[in-house]
Amino acid sequence: VELWQDVPLAPPDSIFQLTAAYKADTFKDKVNLGVGAYRDNDNKPWVLPVVKKATSILLNDEALDHEYLPITGLAEFTNAAAKLILGSHSPAIKEGRTVSVQTISGTGANHLGALFLSKFYKWNGPARIYLSNPTWDAERWLANHHAIFRNVGIEPVEYAYYDPKTIGLDFDGFIDALKTAPERSVFLLHACAHNPTGVDPTTEQWKAIAEVIAAKKHYTFFDCAYQGFASGDLDKDAWAVRYFVELGLPLLVCQSFAKNAGLYGERVGALHLVSPNTETANRVKSQLSVLQRSEISNPPSHGARLVSLILNDARLFEEWKRDIETMAGRIIEMRRELHRLLTEKLHTPGNWDHIVNQIGMFSFTGINPAQSKALVEKGHIYLTGNGRISMAGLNTHNIEYFGSQLDAVVR
Ligand code: PLP
Repeated sequence: VELWQDVPLAPPDSIFQLTAAYKADTFKDKVNLGVGAYRDNDNKPWVLPVVKKATSILLNDEALDHEYLPITGLAEFTNAAAKLILGSHSPAIKEGRTVSVQTISGTGANHLGALFLSKFYKWNGPARIYLSNPTWDAERWLANHHAIFRNVGIEPVEYAYYDPKTIGLDFDGFIDALKTAPERSVFLLHACAHNPTGVDPTTEQWKAIAEVIAAKKHYTFFDCAYQGFASGDLDKDAWAVRYFVELGLPLLVCQSFAKNAGLYGERVGALHLVSPNTETANRVKSQLSVLQRSEISNPPSHGARLVSLILNDARLFEEWKRDIETMAGRIIEMRRELHRLLTEKLHTPGNWDHIVNQIGMFSFTGINPAQSKALVEKGHIYLTGNGRISMAGLNTHNIEYFGSQLDAVVR
């Protein structure tokens, strides 16, 4: 018998499939709104000027070698990365109770965090993670968050999040899920710029969420893939995480530098776990090291060196903030322009305020799967079936075309 005859053929990843279909399309005005990566106004990937500078500094550093990094990564990077997300005056850092481990970007941080919980969390009942409905990425049950937790034997269950009626947050449903989950449940929360909906809680709503989490002693698994990229302001986008730390809520944070530093392929990220004291932090760190050793042995150095240079040099850091503003600003401008086109120029039926109210790379347009399909087939506009568009795929050259095609499919 053939050894692998019972291995079923898995469906291709829908996002990567969408990109392939876009590439194969010869229509000159085709638009790719599927991809989760920043594009400049000419639809080109953007190497941040600050990253170019940091790269040339590294290239000219005669002392650099290609030795292994420590198991938990480059300390100058992880220390600075912790300050970036938790705040430079964070009590958790000052008190030496934050554990930071360099990971294979945000995905690796999610995996390592999940693996650690699967081994050591004191589950109240079966090992379960509460995930927002929907969550990263586009397809509900094939979503990466689901797969990451399932891979380590943690069962994903959903909490109410997105309300298709308002194209906004189902706040009552969310609070209800927090209240009805058993005590000490684990909830994954998107720290900012929720993927795929672009719908975030307001400050007041975050406070109410934190209150229930505290009352029910839930554990928060923060996923932060878009710090700075969402609003253009690194501190603003870290607000929820810092607020939870201030309240003393138990949590970990997965951090990615893919989007905010445009370092997608370099796989730069970190896992930060805030523990009650230094002694616990040391024990947690020792076990994270053991897990990391058998998974990847030690993380890659190049991207971490780049980010470390940027975070630890005041001038480069200021320059990075300006680059982030450039990216976030362009996206916010595209939101405003699309909203203007639909409401003032085309008088498209329906309310389109969600386009400007949502935040980050993605927007849930609210169109149905048939309308999404029509956009792909008739308009050569590539987007996922759930009506999610990447705002980064819009620019001053194609936004009018997109607006008119969107208008046509909803009429
Ligand atoms: N988490 C969320 C919510 C994301 O949207 C992404 C990327 O799209 C990631 C994590 C991880 O990305 P990466 O592994 O490239 O850092």
